[in-house]
Amino acid sequence: MGLKHTLKLGLREVYARVLFYSGLHALVNALMPRRLVILAGHCVKPERGEWPAGQHLSPDMWIGEAQLEAIVRWFSPRYEVVSIGDGLSKLQSRRGKSLLALSFDDGYRDNARVLGPLLARTHAGATVFLESRPLDERRVNWSHKYFWLLGKLGHETLVERYGAHSGPTQTFLTLNQMIAESRGNERYHLKRILKYDAPPEERDRALELAFVEAGGDERALCEELYMDWDEARGLATQGVELGGHSVTHAILSRLAPDEQRREIEGGAQSLARGLGKAPTTFAYPWGRRWDYDESSRAAARAAGFTCAVNMHPGVHRRAAPAYDLPRVAIDGGARVHLLVAEACGGFELLRKLGLDLAE
Ligand SMILES: [Zn+2]
Repeated sequence: MGLKHTLKLGLREVYARVLFYSGLHALVNALMPRRLVILAGHCVKPERGEWPAGQHLSPDMWIGEAQLEAIVRWFSPRYEVVSIGDGLSKLQSRRGKSLLALSFDDGYRDNARVLGPLLARTHAGATVFLESRPLDERRVNWSHKYFWLLGKLGHETLVERYGAHSGPTQTFLTLNQMIAESRGNERYHLKRILKYDAPPEERDRALELAFVEAGGDERALCEELYMDWDEARGLATQGVELGGHSVTHAILSRLAPDEQRREIEGGAQSLARGLGKAPTTFAYPWGRRWDYDESSRAAARAAGFTCAVNMHPGVHRRAAPAYDLPRVAIDGGARVHLLVAEACGGFELLRKLGLDLAE
């Protein structure tokens, strides 16, 4: 980590603490224009009971139930805690409290079993973005097979088995070289190669063969990870907004425009069939700016989505561009004072002064 980045993180921490503990956040909130901040998480880990999905997920994929509830309860009396759709429509009015929207991506089972009850007891709104293939076919995207294999085999054997199925491809050679040099944090470096450099067909096939060979059962894994249609409909009945998140969670910017349309429209049609209501909010899979492009925006609009969110931090005001809405990621490392500094407009104030501490 560079000195500049370390300094930035330190400054950000001090600034957020001063705002939070001095109570100045309330003054900044009152002075800054009304805004909407969207939080983005994946799973909510239950405080009690079994959570089989946990063994197949990396730590940045979940936040604890009590931790999330503490965040919601801090914001509830001070902000309106809403779904993205409600937040955007309420933002059209200049008056009222500022807004905090909760959102959770992919459609994990704990969203129905843990998040749903949490929202009910805190009277908070939220948006849950659903990948459609796990619902329709009980199949998971390659990243879950990768993490399952990593847990079962370790990274060295995983790469060796990948090579056994892919042959000596460029991807295998790169992965193998990384293992040989044993570069730090292989878990993420390897995933990055598989995500951005590997030809998708080769990757999906090699991981699938390795997964089956190691005794993996895709349907069983999907059952552990993803909710089913009944659970999705249960959330909708409860008032949770359900949004689109493509069919297979592909990196849209790597697809031709017609393939992007199939992913985005296909997901929307599946949700309309399964829920009896067409979704209007879309989340780009992976969500970084380089993971989607102009064709993705156009396809989202054509599929009937009125807005789309990404995975970069920021706040919205009334004139926000509807197909590039930023979100603040939350996981087990989420801290109330940092979220408050963003939500009250504190970081935005600094950005206006030319100092971006958010990323
Ligand atoms: Zn996702």
